[in-house]
Amino acid sequence: MRAEVYPFVARPLPYEYDALVPVLDAETLTFHHDKHYKTYVDNLNNALSDYPEQQKKSLPELLADITGLPAAIQTAVRNNGGGVYNHELYFDSMREPVGQEPAGALAEAIERDFGSYRQWKEQMKQAAVGKFGSGWAWLVADKDGVLSITQTSNQDVPDLKEYMPILLVDVWEHAYYLQYKNRRADYVDGWFELINWRKAGKRYEDWLEEIRPRK
Ligand code: MN
Repeated sequence: MRAEVYPFVARPLPYEYDALVPVLDAETLTFHHDKHYKTYVDNLNNALSDYPEQQKKSLPELLADITGLPAAIQTAVRNNGGGVYNHELYFDSMREPVGQEPAGALAEAIERDFGSYRQWKEQMKQAAVGKFGSGWAWLVADKDGVLSITQTSNQDVPDLKEYMPILLVDVWEHAYYLQYKNRRADYVDGWFELINWRKAGKRYEDWLEEIRPRK
């Protein structure tokens, strides 16, 4: 997703802090981006500061092989590197609420693999609302281009050797509690209106190109 290496730099939001109103208010988004996300960036850099060999790796490279890292930094990279990766994809996958729906190859794959957009949405909502505790619900594609929904706990990522993330929704309470209090389902309902389907579709099409058999 990102080619950068250590020291990682927090990315600005690709829209204004109030761009996602009324689904996400500016206070919620400001705390989420400026405090929570930036802390993961700082902690990831701190974890890598004494490991020059690991500083050459991109974030997906670090996360795809956690057990191959020095034991002393495995937990810190898993939690904080995952925190950086997940939040960058989350913030980048939203836009102002204009009620888009998927198009192109991704729309066709959703119909093929879930039956319909409606059925996908129902399953995605169930994964997000039903995730116990803190974590994420994901739409991912495998190496055959087949889509599936998965959940991860804490800041864990799906197996990046096998799957390409297409979309994800943050269901940590810090993502919604200021505005929605305990009403996670209402937040998730709103999130569907924020999905940037153009970017998600591009990620899926790039992935199809990457896994296409070479002659
Ligand atoms: Mn978060």
